Amino acid sequence: MHCMIEGTMDRLQPTPAPLFDKVLEEQRAHRRWRGLILTGSEITLRADLPDLARAARAAGFERVRIQTHGVHLSRPGYADRLLEAGVNEFFVSVAGAGAASHDAITQVPGAWDKMLAGMEYLDRHEDVRLLTNTVITSLCYRDLPEIVAALGHLERLVQMEFWNFFPMAERDDKRLAVAFPELMPYLRDAILAARAAGRFVEVKNVPECLMGELSDALVNAQPLLMIDPAFWQEFDRNQFHRCPHRAACASTECLGLTPAYIARFGDEAEQLHPLISD
Ligand code: SF4
Repeated sequence: MHCMIEGTMDRLQPTPAPLFDKVLEEQRAHRRWRGLILTGSEITLRADLPDLARAARAAGFERVRIQTHGVHLSRPGYADRLLEAGVNEFFVSVAGAGAASHDAITQVPGAWDKMLAGMEYLDRHEDVRLLTNTVITSLCYRDLPEIVAALGHLERLVQMEFWNFFPMAERDDKRLAVAFPELMPYLRDAILAARAAGRFVEVKNVPECLMGELSDALVNAQPLLMIDPAFWQEFDRNQFHRCPHRAACASTECLGLTPAYIARFGDEAEQLHPLISD
């Protein structure tokens, strides 16, 4: 199974309980935020997840989201425990467009069937918002439009996200990145299909100039993140913003290219075009 932070996950420390309590205290006192996302490694492995969600809702978070591979959502009674505790958003990682590709990428036989059964169960519950995230890699980029189609029946699927892989390292040793000229036709089809199905779409880490008229789908910002500071040391190894046109480009959203991408595919000077400010 791949995850963008797989190399660091075993070293990162969970958010300490006092910090979580401080966030709840701040929310109780000032109602600073609307929602809270519980994530990290695989959050459904935490036995106290329902307790964390219940505490968050009691502190005034209207939306409590978990980020998960979704396998446990089909376990009898488990999704109900989360719903009863107040979890109302489920951000599920979808790696492929069906059992064959999803199970091969996650290396978990049966993962697709369990994940989909869990999402279909949640889809029958009011006030649930389903969201998906697909990490775009060389293993799945051709499947993107089919992923949208495979989830077309989910009524409460409100948002689909497509995060283009970056290696959290100076080199893409696993050769998971995809050349942008190769990726874009599939990504565009997926965005258009998802929007046609009424989904909100977010794309991350794709050059803004390649998004064309779909550039409003590019959202590189992340919610306020409380994470082990060691994460940021690893994140900085990506060294974003390498683009031959950076100095001439008006984009404030674009992350450009990484050295790992350039080492494999070149700097795409002919493909990329600086944006002009309005
Ligand atoms: S020219 Fe470079 S910085 Fe500007 S949008 Fe394209 S990739 Fe991003």
